[in-house]
Amino acid sequence: MIQRRPCRQVVIGDDRVGHVKIGGGLYGTDPAPVSVQTMTTGYTYDIDACVAEINRLTAAGADVVRVAVPEKKDTDALKEIIPRVKVPIVADVHFHFKRALEAVESGVHKIRLNPGNIQDHDQVVEVIRACKARKIPIRVGVNEGSIIERRDKQKRMRELGQVFSNQKHGYLLSIMVAKLEEYLDIFYNEDFYDIVISAKSMDATVVIDAYTEIARRFPHPLHLGVTHAGPKETGCIRSVVALGSLLANGIGDTLRISYASDSRYEVEDGLELLYTLGLRERKTAELIACPTCGRIQVDLITLVQDVRKKLEGQIHLPIKVAVMGCIVNGPGEAEGADVAVFAGDRRGIIYVQGEKVANVPEEEILGKLLEECLAFQAKVERGEARLGEKKVEIIPPDPIGELGSGWEKLAADKAGPGAAGGAGKRASGPQPLTVGQS
Ligand code: SF4
Repeated sequence: MIQRRPCRQVVIGDDRVGHVKIGGGLYGTDPAPVSVQTMTTGYTYDIDACVAEINRLTAAGADVVRVAVPEKKDTDALKEIIPRVKVPIVADVHFHFKRALEAVESGVHKIRLNPGNIQDHDQVVEVIRACKARKIPIRVGVNEGSIIERRDKQKRMRELGQVFSNQKHGYLLSIMVAKLEEYLDIFYNEDFYDIVISAKSMDATVVIDAYTEIARRFPHPLHLGVTHAGPKETGCIRSVVALGSLLANGIGDTLRISYASDSRYEVEDGLELLYTLGLRERKTAELIACPTCGRIQVDLITLVQDVRKKLEGQIHLPIKVAVMGCIVNGPGEAEGADVAVFAGDRRGIIYVQGEKVANVPEEEILGKLLEECLAFQAKVERGEARLGEKKVEIIPPDPIGELGSGWEKLAADKAGPGAAGGAGKRASGPQPLTVGQS
């Protein structure tokens, strides 16, 4: 079990949308589950579309949603958006402190400030005081891209020169920590501690080192993220490497995976990462599937995708479902699954908690598997079965008879020329192997 880093706890939300706790473990608080955030991609001032996007992301599992507020019409829109959504809303403020003040007035639940582009001491103090009066937390985000000085040309040249020198990594980290310390002093002087910190970069190794260092130095909850990670297809690896490594070491209290793709994927992948590390309790079906190989005798890849889509819509309990291509490793890998199918030669045998319930041709596997999942879900809901309760030993089915597989050919070959038993049933493709070989 992962030991979380103890830190202060911050609470965002209200009685209507609920309260999301971030961090904990210090001052009599317990660590809250790691929450998943995302950000809308549409214009905030387009109220109906913004509400629809937030509600869609909430349905996907987002605990908190952030919106951009570049103009006053965006912060004005928050007054109408917030009463129509069911999660805490964060206003993403850059360049103009007045957007933060307006967002607070509009009832936002949290503010994100960037020390790289809101630096004026008095303006920061004004935002802090407005948030303190309404008990609204602030995230201080020192993103790599915005920490280099932009106004003082001399300083900018010096900083850039050092960032691009051989010591890039070390200098970048030191500048991130220095800017953070300087900024947080303003908060501490105002006796304000409802702070969440982020230190994002597009470089996964910088993210790991920066958060590790910040976790050691500051007692505040950490919002993890890899910024500009790219599209889902490549951003996924970059994000999971950095965030997974930190989370596995107990660092991180809330996260946003950033993709140049539909934000729904950010939520789904953030949740899957937390489920995988045992940091959140899974609420929907868990699909286990073999990667397929040259032994496959059904179209398993299509079947797995179809099963995933069906489970998503109809299973609302964390039922473990295994879809295995053959019996070589199937029994071992699927043991512990609530519902499992092993494929043979254009057939599949379905098990429910280790008990064989059906043997169907390939075209009926999807329907029958879903039927068994739904029936099992209903049994669990009636209290007649419990998830993952039976640790069963699945006995592999007879590969020659029951699964009607190409193993018949092997038997026939062994029996010599002219022997009956389905030789030639599979004209080409993978040949059978001994059970256990893989
Ligand atoms: S050996 Fe069987 S279970 Fe394993 S990958 Fe190949 S088809 Fe799938």
